Amino acid sequence: MNTPLELLVIEDDPADFLLLTRHLRTQGLAAACTQVASTAELEAALDTGAWAAVLADYKVPGMRFETTLEWVRQRWPDLPIILVSGAVGEEQAVELLRRGVGDFVLKDHLIRLIPAIERCLREAVEQRARRTAEAALRESEERLRLALEGGDLGMWDWDVVSDVVVVNPRWVAMLGYGQADLPHCRSDWEMLVHPDDLPVLRQASADLLEDRLPFVAFDHRLRHRDGHWVWVFSRGKTIARSPQGRPVRVCGTHQDISVRKLVEEEWHRLASTDPLTGILNRRSLKEAMEAETRRTRRHGRPLTLIMFDLDWFKAINDTYGHDQGDAVLVAVTAQIRDRLRQDDSLARWGGEEFMILLPETPLAQAVALAETLRIGLQTSPCPGVEPVTASFGVTAYRPDETLDEWLERVDGLVYQVKRAGRDGVASS
Ligand code: GH3
Ligand code: MG
Ligand code: MG
Repeated sequence: MNTPLELLVIEDDPADFLLLTRHLRTQGLAAACTQVASTAELEAALDTGAWAAVLADYKVPGMRFETTLEWVRQRWPDLPIILVSGAVGEEQAVELLRRGVGDFVLKDHLIRLIPAIERCLREAVEQRARRTAEAALRESEERLRLALEGGDLGMWDWDVVSDVVVVNPRWVAMLGYGQADLPHCRSDWEMLVHPDDLPVLRQASADLLEDRLPFVAFDHRLRHRDGHWVWVFSRGKTIARSPQGRPVRVCGTHQDISVRKLVEEEWHRLASTDPLTGILNRRSLKEAMEAETRRTRRHGRPLTLIMFDLDWFKAINDTYGHDQGDAVLVAVTAQIRDRLRQDDSLARWGGEEFMILLPETPLAQAVALAETLRIGLQTSPCPGVEPVTASFGVTAYRPDETLDEWLERVDGLVYQVKRAGRDGVASS
């Protein structure tokens, strides 16, 4: 059995109240009606009961309908109020509907009452659902605002069709600009992007616009007003589509990740360099060798390797002490690094053993370089310490050999020079 509808009836005339309840009963609406006839009774009833709707007469002694209506609407905005009256003109009824009366039924035409109640209840349910959804939306907007403020996030909103970009103050502040310097379209934004990172940005845009990905996230550098680059982590998501389903609005956030990048770079530097000399360590030279030999196998470009080992270094330590030995290693490294090209890789292979990887360099050119370096050492790079000499092996990569075979060959060449008396260059 249905639980009866709890209806609150504002009515001073007991006969009218009886008429109304009888009508509801005979027409088959399960309702429990409670009569109130004054403001005090109304207030008490509203405070204690859970009402489905209020049925109200217009003229009740001691109550002004408009005041009652306003008061109920303010405190119970979702509670439907249906005016049931014999004394209201059409114009007045329209005005009352405008003020929030759910429906208007004449006492001598009660046949409309049940449909009016049912319609108002349906509308009340919809209104409650709408109100809940609106509250949830407001709450999530507020959460987003807090997240943006708390996380110090810039925000962007791109209307794809008009190509208008709207950003928040943090977006521009991150780059040292004021609100007046906002980007207005995508190309304004692109003009700030580091040339090396443009492909990343364009790929992400295409992935969103062509619907390959539901959202994108990438790092890119943007030019600060002062000229330096700011590392920015960007996220984007399609938030509106055309009737045909094409993305028309894309929004996202910007986060300054410069500090994180610095830490990452520092980690990378520590992991890839030798702490004493600051040049590449063995591990990163091996990585470079793998990359370069792959290129050589594919494109047939010449690639050579120089290995050198300082001669009688133990004696340097024994004569001048270990710290001076360290200073010599640092000075020799600096001197040699100065003579190399940008693309050459100098690495400390072991204690006093070094490697130089020379892309795009034929053997003869590498041998000449080794010879220049060997002669350069005759001028001591380290004050107070006699010049050191070194034994050099130079060899070109053969595309059919493994890295280990190549390393073994260059090591053999160094050994060959050592046996022949040191301070020389051998090649093959
Ligand atoms: P050669 O290569 O000409 O045969 O003689 P060597 O004396 O250089 O050869 P050896 O391999 O016997 O000795 C290398 C020395 O290098 C031993 C070690 O004390 C020294 N050495 C290795 N690493 C370091 C370092 O980081 N600092 C210092 N000061 N010395 C180092
Ligand atoms: Mg040595
Ligand atoms: Mg050695």
